[in-house]
Amino acid sequence: MAGILFIISAPSGSGKSTLVNEVRKQLSGIEFSVSWTTRAPRGSEEDGREYHFTSRAEFERRIAAGEFMEHAEVFGNYYGTARASLDQARRDGHDLLLDIDVQGAAQVRASMPEAVSIFVLPPNPRVLRTRLRNRSRAEGVVNEAEVYRRLSEASREIENYHEYGYILVNDALDRAVAQLEAIVQAERFYRNDEPIAFRSRRVLEVAAGCLQANSQQRLKPVLEAFGILGPMGQGKMSFDGDLEDEDSEDESGEVSGATGSPDNKEDSNDH
Ligand code: ADP
Ligand code: 5GP
Repeated sequence: MAGILFIISAPSGSGKSTLVNEVRKQLSGIEFSVSWTTRAPRGSEEDGREYHFTSRAEFERRIAAGEFMEHAEVFGNYYGTARASLDQARRDGHDLLLDIDVQGAAQVRASMPEAVSIFVLPPNPRVLRTRLRNRSRAEGVVNEAEVYRRLSEASREIENYHEYGYILVNDALDRAVAQLEAIVQAERFYRNDEPIAFRSRRVLEVAAGCLQANSQQRLKPVLEAFGILGPMGQGKMSFDGDLEDEDSEDESGEVSGATGSPDNKEDSNDH
């Protein structure tokens, strides 16, 4: 049976890798495509685990040889997905998850419209800035120029949210993990007739709540804060608002498990 291709995109620092790592611990039968990149390893990253790290010359050789199913330049570096990842997942009959930027996602959707696409949003610019700083601090030094660069790119990436089938707001981590898991299970159920155990109805409801078409109310304040909708105007981010947003983030910069508390931050309609 052919596997399902999942694409996940988000502004850098939204928590996409954290979410994906949590979901991979919970679900089997889904492979993660390790991308190629010309950027340098960060923190504890290892070659072949988070990325295949390579030089520009080698990356360009691979482009010329047609080895990538998509590639793009992001923050001044090349990133690309090897065709071999998809071939391997197909041979194994596994689902494949691609963590790629909005340009790469558009390329994949054009050639494989059946792919399931998921966009992850941070709750607001303050939280995104804190996460970018925390991650930078955990890597040994807060690189403010890099934090600023990624923050200023966020609104441009978020403008593409409507191209994606599902939208997640990564506020409380355990809720976002549950939502991502529900999307994978619901798609397996609809496409492969895969049975969902006793929680089935709930899982389908959670996934349906994340469909872009059902997310407009939930998204409005997020899009306004990033200057995509409403009075702030295009591209003007708001760092005003509830200080608790920032304080509620783990100042150590690490999320070691699904530690968010879904019940105390938002109403249950979002589940
Ligand atoms: P991305 O892969 O989207 O660039 P990361 O997964 O590296 O982002 O997350 C950025 C930072 O935010 C990390 O320090 C991570 O531990 C933290 N983080 C991720 N999700 C949450 C969350 N829901 N609540 C608090 N911190 C989070
Ligand atoms: P980071 O440097 O923070 O790991 O990733 C920066 C951006 O590159 C993220 O938006 C991430 O999704 C994207 N990215 C990672 N791998 C790929 C890839 O193979 N292709 C494309 N197009 N983008 C990628």
